[in-house]
Amino acid sequence: MNYGTSVHESIEKCPVCGLNKLHKNEVIYDVPLLGQVVIFSCYCEACGYRHMDIVSMELKGGRRISYVVEDEEDIYAKIVRAPTATIKVPELGTTIRPGPAAQAFITNVEGLMERIRDAIEMAIRWSESDEEKKQGLAYLKKIEEILNGNEKATIIIEDPLGNSFIIPPKGREKKLKIEYMEY
Ligand SMILES: [Zn+2]
Repeated sequence: MNYGTSVHESIEKCPVCGLNKLHKNEVIYDVPLLGQVVIFSCYCEACGYRHMDIVSMELKGGRRISYVVEDEEDIYAKIVRAPTATIKVPELGTTIRPGPAAQAFITNVEGLMERIRDAIEMAIRWSESDEEKKQGLAYLKKIEEILNGNEKATIIIEDPLGNSFIIPPKGREKKLKIEYMEY
């Protein structure tokens, strides 16, 4: 399986600072069961502006993708999330919703767990009930166990436009579940 081929790279004028320091990059991914997906990303060396777009070339339409993380190797599954997608991890009581400020991102399970950990730590800080704090601390402990490969976690991505996906580690493509949905 292909982990992404860069098909086009260029340096252009940055829309934010106006300098010719904007690195543009187009990468095509061959995703198991989903076909080709193109990721357009740009990054300005001068001002730090970043933007990313994800476009699925085939099999458009709403879908729900899930992958069960069972051991240390699964931590390297890649998660590509378009701004329209909701990510759920039921074992951690977590839902990351799309919103006007939602950004596309590419990460792996470890990176996703770090985002969730930050959100839970913030919730603990703002929480006024002991019950909520206790639950939060239990989730933080669970995240450690998931990253050590001792606990399972189900990563669910629901994207009404079908531009988000998960790339399992090599040889584990069969573990990916895809359901097509009507929105
Ligand atoms: Zn710039």
